[in-house]
Amino acid sequence: SVGDEVEAVVDKSRAEVEKHHSATHLLHAGLREVLGAHIAQAGSLNDDKRLRFDFSHPQAMSAEEIAKVEAWVNEKISRAIQAKTDVMSIEEAKKTGAMALFGEKYGDEVRVVSMGDASVELCGGTHVNNVSQIGLFMITKESGVSAGVRRIEAICGNAAIEAVKTLRDELNEVKAEVKNVNPLVGIAKLKEQIKTLKTEVATAQTATKKELTPTMLKEVNVIVEEVDTGDIKTLIDEAKNKYPNVAIMLFQKKGDKVMIACGSKETPIKAGDWIKQIAPILGGGGGGRPDFAQAGGKDASKIPEATQKALAYLEENL
Ligand SMILES: [Zn+2]
Repeated sequence: SVGDEVEAVVDKSRAEVEKHHSATHLLHAGLREVLGAHIAQAGSLNDDKRLRFDFSHPQAMSAEEIAKVEAWVNEKISRAIQAKTDVMSIEEAKKTGAMALFGEKYGDEVRVVSMGDASVELCGGTHVNNVSQIGLFMITKESGVSAGVRRIEAICGNAAIEAVKTLRDELNEVKAEVKNVNPLVGIAKLKEQIKTLKTEVATAQTATKKELTPTMLKEVNVIVEEVDTGDIKTLIDEAKNKYPNVAIMLFQKKGDKVMIACGSKETPIKAGDWIKQIAPILGGGGGGRPDFAQAGGKDASKIPEATQKALAYLEENL
């Protein structure tokens, strides 16, 4: 009743919805400005934290086009254009050049929302009084919806401020993690360190490389062993260069799997035949030439058995 106290509360989220909705008007106009007059709205959704605008366009927007549209909208915002709503007949509205939705039914009287000469559109929604209220406008994503329809997602107002704050916080975390005020310099330094460490590891592996010593079997230098480090193909080449009459098979664990390689030089053993007998023990297969063959296996626990069988094969075939 008269005299009662009432409390009027401005719904902040309502104001944020108005900002996103009003930004959609500018975005629509900006897209037509940058991409051409063929741009027509195919769908629009906005709330207090984001806006989504679907429109007809035959291909994905380039990064440059996206930047141009974003800059166009922000330039209009910075000009603090007053928004104006007029009710007029549809004929009068057409004369103003207002953008209307194709195929949409309008009554005799329509609402024309204009933001200076930046945007004139038929719309029944609620808007900001002045485009400067929209604040910062940021396009967050451009994607395809269906053939010939693209989608832009964007933020403005408080949502844009929050997004920038998040970016700043994340960047500060990155700076702290890479221990450099310039994160790119920090990352470049880390990459350089990784490169150095890789070289050091490779050097260390070569230095600790096991000396492969052959045993004599029927005047053939025999090496059948599991090796932890070093490239087994290289080790086989080295043994073949170092010794005459050599039959060599090496196993190396790679995680759960096993790499197998073997070589034969100046012996009756054919490497390809030899490995075909041994690889299945390790749950694998492979083959190769008489002088060199390789295979992969799946069961590293069978390496001792494979070693025994490889030696037995030589006993029989040498
Ligand atoms: Zn509107």
